Amino acid sequence: MTSSNHAIAALTAAIRTVPDFPKPGVQFKDITPVLADAKLFASCIELLAADFQPGAVDTVVGIDARGFIFAAATALKLGCGFVPVRKKGKLPWKTLEESYDLEYGSNTIAIHTDAVKPGARVLLIDDVLATGGTAAAAAALLKKAGANILEVNFVIELGFLNGRSKLRGLPVRSLVVF
Ligand code: AMP
Repeated sequence: MTSSNHAIAALTAAIRTVPDFPKPGVQFKDITPVLADAKLFASCIELLAADFQPGAVDTVVGIDARGFIFAAATALKLGCGFVPVRKKGKLPWKTLEESYDLEYGSNTIAIHTDAVKPGARVLLIDDVLATGGTAAAAAALLKKAGANILEVNFVIELGFLNGRSKLRGLPVRSLVVF
């Protein structure tokens, strides 16, 4: 086993699946045991940053809310800035917005208009890729801002939901696939 296989096996073992949270039928992937373990958290960030040398990424963008934790740490690792994509109404300055459909209703996310420079090399990160709606909307926002998305990274991918199909044309990488 390579060291990265070991790290992925340890990550997989630490992720806690909570049935029927926050509503019946959802198998919630709880990443808090990963965050609470210094070695696991560090190896998770190593893996998220693995495709890039310091200097190769201008901005790491994280998606509200657990994506912030992983994206901010990855930005520090790569020596670049961090930018949040937030739920509508949370950012104080001028924003670009993007809406996407949920099973019932819709959601809108936003980014500050001046947060990502046109042509910026961006790594987009979230904790979980489920149906892909959130990440696809975040990618659309970044394209509106003129960003060059290098990769979209997730700690966890729920492969059976086929969220990747919403991210066609973008390099998608996830550390653990369920
Ligand atoms: P989606 O837009 O369906 O890909 O959902 C992605 C967002 O919802 C991510 O920001 C996750 O934090 C959250 N999410 C969706 N499904 C789960 C799950 N089973 N466990 C934990 N978080 C989830």
